[in-house]
Amino acid sequence: MSHLHARSVACPTCGKSVEWSAQARWRPFCSERCKLIDLGQWAHEQYRVPGDTPTDPSVDPLSDPLGERP
Ligand SMILES: [Zn+2]
Repeated sequence: MSHLHARSVACPTCGKSVEWSAQARWRPFCSERCKLIDLGQWAHEQYRVPGDTPTDPSVDPLSDPLGERP
């Protein structure tokens, strides 16, 4: 009946059209996931790729201790 009142917004994270209604609990995001992404709470976990451990050259056991010493 009052469908003319229905509004939709674009999800700030993925750009998906989100109906602005009482059922859209994560508005203006399309989902909890997109909300967490926007807050940086999700992306932080996504970047933790298994096996992609950063190497620290200062603790490299193969480095020559006499190579670059002052
Ligand atoms: Zn989204």
